[in-house]
Amino acid sequence: MNKKYIIFKDDDVGKDFDKLKKWVDIILKNDAKAAIGLIGRYMKNQDLNNYLNDLDKSKIEIFCHGYSHSHLPFLLIKKFGRNRFYPTEFDRNFNSHDLSLKKYRKAESKYLDGKAMTFGSQGNIWNDSVIEALVKNDFKMMFSWRKTEQDLLTIPLSDNFKQNSLDEFINIYEKNKDNPIYTLQFHHANLSEKQFNLLPAVIDYLKNKENRVFITPSELLKISKQDKYIFNLMAPENALKKKKKKKKKN
Ligand SMILES: [Zn+2]
Repeated sequence: MNKKYIIFKDDDVGKDFDKLKKWVDIILKNDAKAAIGLIGRYMKNQDLNNYLNDLDKSKIEIFCHGYSHSHLPFLLIKKFGRNRFYPTEFDRNFNSHDLSLKKYRKAESKYLDGKAMTFGSQGNIWNDSVIEALVKNDFKMMFSWRKTEQDLLTIPLSDNFKQNSLDEFINIYEKNKDNPIYTLQFHHANLSEKQFNLLPAVIDYLKNKENRVFITPSELLKISKQDKYIFNLMAPENALKKKKKKKKKN
């Protein structure tokens, strides 16, 4: 039987530091692992940087969740009195994306010990010019609901943690039950007390009932180099097309 993996992804590191610590404590106490998405501009908080530098990266791995995480739609509502479409941080143009990632890398090299190899955008919204900017700024993978066309591996997203009971969770999990990679997305700042209390049961279910192995993004990257099936789930469309063409020729 093939191994099945589980990745926990938590967004918006920088917001609600107390809830972040509470969330990470539950992950570690229950012998799980997670990827946590840091918003670059919060690296001005030295307490947060110290905390992040002290984490065991083989269990809690930091990924880049952009630099500004700007709330432009909100500002525009104020200004115009109604909701206006405005592109989020990674739905603009190459230069803007490149600048955001460079600002992140600069702060990261100043304040943090390690370097993130994975990216996940605000609201998981991104356009094709983001890929070029990510490759240029030395990122290897991106969390996403859809594959890239070329050049960058994706970590496929599966579900959002919004449930209030284990039964509710199992219900949404069932449709992804057979996926070798299951990625569950969290927003620690939005979790209720009830959901914090539910978390150990969800971890226990995934580990002991479903026999999933908790991994970090860098562990997944290693696995993808040895396991073709896993690689194909993450590979860009063009890599798969090329392979098909080759097969036809042979
Ligand atoms: Zn976010």
